Amino acid sequence: MLVPLTERLAIAIANDAIGERLWFYTNYHCNLSCTYCLTSSSPKAKKRELNVATIRAIAQDAVRLGFRAFGVTGGEPFMRRDMPELVAELGRYLPTVVLTNGTLFTERFVSERLTQLASLPVALQLSIDSAYPDEHDRFRGPGSHDAVLSALVRLHAHGIRARVGTTRDDEEDVAAAASLRQLVARYGVTGNDHVVRPIVARGAAVVAKLGIPAGPEDVPAELTITIDGAFWSPASPTVRSGRLDTRERVSRIITPLDVAVDAMLRYGNEVTERTKRVA
Ligand code: SF4
Repeated sequence: MLVPLTERLAIAIANDAIGERLWFYTNYHCNLSCTYCLTSSSPKAKKRELNVATIRAIAQDAVRLGFRAFGVTGGEPFMRRDMPELVAELGRYLPTVVLTNGTLFTERFVSERLTQLASLPVALQLSIDSAYPDEHDRFRGPGSHDAVLSALVRLHAHGIRARVGTTRDDEEDVAAAASLRQLVARYGVTGNDHVVRPIVARGAAVVAKLGIPAGPEDVPAELTITIDGAFWSPASPTVRSGRLDTRERVSRIITPLDVAVDAMLRYGNEVTERTKRVA
């Protein structure tokens, strides 16, 4: 008997074979050009945006199929003018987290455009890589540390949930990790709201000789939708020297989402089988 897709997805999520969160790469351009960027994003990168109608259709499919959360990433999502309303719409469907460098949140932008998020299950995850401005700015650009700390204060003042994401190439540096934890705690971010992850050797990180090598079994298995198709993980649709890495693309078709989910489940089985053979 053919098992319905919703049931197969529910089983995969319950078994931790794939994550409950569906990710959108809303765009690829960014106001920064971080040294280790997975997507080699920058102000000069092609925008490659998912349009609102496509995101809406996929979000509705995701709810029907049984996903339980959304993630938004890029590029810098807030380079798009329509992002506050888009995030609010996603947040009305499911709890949503948005990864952002946090450098575009002026007082005016927060008070005029982002307060609509305060009453929704939406969290903005701001990038802070170090307690020390020079260390953070070395990877992300001058002034970005100051800008993101100011943004944290503004978001909290307006009742908008803000988390912190840290990307480091020296995760073993206990003192540096403790200093950063103390810093973000002073800004009201503690516990699971501070996410720390290593630099992955993909995208621009390879060129900069940074990060740890990772195969599909090493990155989070969370279906990720881009203008170029559906991928295995938010760490999959990387760009190096202008070329998209399609090795972890599970499907070129993104709508209806059923096609991509079915392909994701099959890809997951292949990864599991491959891992077993290597073990
Ligand atoms: S890492 Fe994030 S903030 Fe930095 S260039 Fe890439 S997309 Fe932009």
